[in-house]
Amino acid sequence: MSASVFFPLDSQQIVGVIGGGQLGRMLALAARRMGVKSVVWTGGLEAPAVEVADEVIDLPFDDPAALKLFCEAATVATVEFENIPIKTLTSVAEKIRLFPSPQAVEICQNREREKNFLKAHGIPYAWFRVIGSLGDLVSAMRELDGPGVLKTAAFGYDGKGQIKIEGSENPADIWREFGSERAVLEGWVPFEKEISVMVVRAADGSLKTYDPAENRHRQHVLDVSIIPARISVKLANEARALAGKVAEALDYHGILGVEFFVNPDGSLIVNEMAPRPHNSGHHTMNACATSQFEQQLRVVLGLPLGSTKLISPAVMLNLLADFWTGESQPPNWNALLETENVILHLYGKRRASGMRKMGHATFLCEDLELALSKVAALKENWLKAT
Ligand code: AMP
Repeated sequence: MSASVFFPLDSQQIVGVIGGGQLGRMLALAARRMGVKSVVWTGGLEAPAVEVADEVIDLPFDDPAALKLFCEAATVATVEFENIPIKTLTSVAEKIRLFPSPQAVEICQNREREKNFLKAHGIPYAWFRVIGSLGDLVSAMRELDGPGVLKTAAFGYDGKGQIKIEGSENPADIWREFGSERAVLEGWVPFEKEISVMVVRAADGSLKTYDPAENRHRQHVLDVSIIPARISVKLANEARALAGKVAEALDYHGILGVEFFVNPDGSLIVNEMAPRPHNSGHHTMNACATSQFEQQLRVVLGLPLGSTKLISPAVMLNLLADFWTGESQPPNWNALLETENVILHLYGKRRASGMRKMGHATFLCEDLELALSKVAALKENWLKAT
């Protein structure tokens, strides 16, 4: 795509968003602030983006009529969810500008392709073997000779489709329990920290990275992000450089999340990539001059990239469904709302179940440790009340 293709930022632009989750909702809200209209294609799934989009196509992703409607309604397009059929993305890209490209999404939506991509480009990755049969698992477990994680090749997220193994189990039992035909066996990484870097790359190849976020999980779901990550400047720069390398190797256009493990010896391993805005980049809405959502819009609209500078350190707390009582009673927000420099975002989801992401809160702060202690106290009270 030529760098000279610039679109005016005016009311003629309609951004098509493929996927209608909370990321689509925040993209549509960012578009609205910039005077740009949005059309959201939900895939027929429950979609928090619906109530803020200008237009909604509430049909499955493989519906030809939906494809036609979408391409007629949108002037440019993006994705907020990677598990979209590649055929659909290719058809969209033939008609309108779609960033990221179907090729980039295809690599990121499948662990086998993702791992092979990292390997081919000399980007550090965890030991892995591709598993397509019980025989593959038997030899991979023998070779690994220790703990690991068996992960489905496709459609895995937030720890879903994963089994932790110790190494001494019977592979036949594991393979039966797993029930997926294609998988990746990864060696266990005794990481010290998990961090992530949001990187944005424009059509002309210009690229910017945000400060790394330090991520903590609860039951495999992101719980808290701490920004900037409490790591050395040298390591932060290495992570930013690696994230940039990933974006370039993918010839990526748009916003990309790159997740890393930090080894005890201070080296980095890329865990996975998200070809879209990422949960660990939500603080950018309040703590940076340009949010990850605005960056995505800037790239699809052919506008210059915005500053990625961190204006204030921040702690982002995910508001997961287990803070709710039953399916519909939210926690008492008063203590959070009374805390200085905290911004509450709720996604309008009607039903709280499991560890669903219902919203997030960004604590802008000078002292990360103090902010973390406030976050811990709020969480404890909410969990006690459920
Ligand atoms: P993923 O869906 O691959 O991001 O995995 C979810 C979480 O499981 C990660 O954020 C880690 O906390 C943990 N995890 C995944 N793979 C490994 C691994 N190979 N070694 C140690 N922990 C892992």
